[in-house]
Amino acid sequence: MTLLPFACSLCLIPAAVASNVGGPCDLLLYNGTIMTFDDQGTTASAIEITGNVVTAVWLVDPGKTDCAQLIDLDGRTVIPGLIDNHVHWLARAYRPGHNVAEMDNAFSWQDAVDILLVKMSGVPQVGERGVATADNFLTAIGGFTPTQFVEGVLPDLATLDGIDRPVFLSPGFDGPSQTNSAGIAYFGAHGVTVSNDGSITSGNTAAARNALSAEHDFDDQVRGTLDLMAWSASVGLTTVMNFSDDSTAAETLFDDGTAFTRIRHNLGSQGLAQVPNIIQQLLTSDGDDMFRHVLLGEFVVGGQTVPPDYDDAALLMADAGVSHHQHAIPNSVAGGFLDVWETINGVFPITTLRWQLAHVFDMSAGTMNRLDALGGGFAMQTQNYSGTLLFTDAGPPFRSAYDHATLRVSTGTDGGNIVTINPWLAIYFMTTGLNDAGTLRVPSGETITVTEAIELYTTAASWFSFDEATLGSLEIGKFADVVVLSDDVLALERLGQHARLRDVTSVLTIVDGDIVYSDGTLVQCADSNEYGQWHRRTGDSVCVFGTCFGDVDGDGAVGIVDFLAVLAAWGPCPGCPEDLDDNGSVGINDFLALLAAWGDCP
Ligand SMILES: [Zn+2]
Repeated sequence: MTLLPFACSLCLIPAAVASNVGGPCDLLLYNGTIMTFDDQGTTASAIEITGNVVTAVWLVDPGKTDCAQLIDLDGRTVIPGLIDNHVHWLARAYRPGHNVAEMDNAFSWQDAVDILLVKMSGVPQVGERGVATADNFLTAIGGFTPTQFVEGVLPDLATLDGIDRPVFLSPGFDGPSQTNSAGIAYFGAHGVTVSNDGSITSGNTAAARNALSAEHDFDDQVRGTLDLMAWSASVGLTTVMNFSDDSTAAETLFDDGTAFTRIRHNLGSQGLAQVPNIIQQLLTSDGDDMFRHVLLGEFVVGGQTVPPDYDDAALLMADAGVSHHQHAIPNSVAGGFLDVWETINGVFPITTLRWQLAHVFDMSAGTMNRLDALGGGFAMQTQNYSGTLLFTDAGPPFRSAYDHATLRVSTGTDGGNIVTINPWLAIYFMTTGLNDAGTLRVPSGETITVTEAIELYTTAASWFSFDEATLGSLEIGKFADVVVLSDDVLALERLGQHARLRDVTSVLTIVDGDIVYSDGTLVQCADSNEYGQWHRRTGDSVCVFGTCFGDVDGDGAVGIVDFLAVLAAWGPCPGCPEDLDDNGSVGINDFLALLAAWGDCP
């Protein structure tokens, strides 16, 4: 185990230290630039995690620690887990085939090929008889757009034929789409019309998607959800306010404890008749800090404008005391919803219910004030990052909303179908105003800084899901949802290298106190893939902590002496150095972890 490089005589008194009663801490992350997003905007150097909560925050690294595991952050930037305030995350998780979430970050055809080649290894090859099924497909459906590629259009047939799997690329709700030769054969066999060049018209895209969906069962949905949790952890997205789709498949992962993205699943309705039942469901559902239902939205009686039944539905929600999140485009429609809310507030006060308006790209100062007076929140999203789906109004007005003295404001993507769910593409958009085609789509003066954007994505967003007491900032007593970033994002901003914000990832993600993702930079894990990446699919994989995990004898290398020490300590051995995974006993997992770390220390 690496010793901390700080002698305690050099230490200042830590600014904030937990009493940490009840025994030693589990994990210390030190030597970092930790953006805590507490009320003072403190940047800390070390944080301590015990169980699933933060138990100490240090401005200066502590000289000694009683933590079981230590991770030297090597100066890296750390932020709280990101919270998307409005995303169609389950829609993406349930995509037929093997969803390639990474496609949102392909900026050229070559990028697309590189991404698909990496993903290909996890996708079964077409069977010997040459009959493909949906399970052989690499799919990117929604979220990405043709305009993100420098070529300005989707990768062509010849490019996609470089991939040894059927591929289906389908932007937006209904394409037009593109496939490769293996896909042409599949769709041909399923009666879907595909051109010789592999293009599929918007009109035929639904049929192509339906053919794949017909072969995508419940277990595939569960697998896709785990895949998307892994991807989400890899970009630091740890909590999602999900809208739409049935949560049954995802819930199996929460029931068996394998889930590692927090989901706040909101319940929508398309008609007044359903509203009492949904209210009842909200009031009676149990749920916990990993998964629960929060509110009714984004539609309660359907419709893009204020529907005739809306006032009745709103009255029911206010009377029952439930929270509500309403899709509203543009500002005039938002005003229409507020007319109803203001009237109802005179009968059943809604000022404590956190009713929220989403989207509103052209939100005016007057509308913000009206919403604020009702105790509401403005949930902004980054739909305008899409260079294909051009909304009438640019926006939202990030700067005006952020600077509002009292209004609750946060951000998310509305991603899944129409735009990316990658928070770093969203943060790029919030800070530059540029969409994926390089066009300015935020009004002049309405962009915000990187720090402000992350604030809206963390501590500010936690209020919208009623999680502000436990999520959104790195403070003592809050859940340890921690993201170690690949890049110094403030330096990128300082240097004007905003384009690089788009490719920021996590090198280490902790959710609820557990490491759930590592790219191998700081922490090596058993069962990593060929790229050194690991994410938690089950609770019992072993991660290698510290810079030289497994070096029991401290000679700078993991070798035969360490191996013999582990064998000698086999069996129950709480707290002993050979108990590498710190589970109280030396066993096969420690042995495997040692083998994984074999060789000279990094
Ligand atoms: Zn919406």
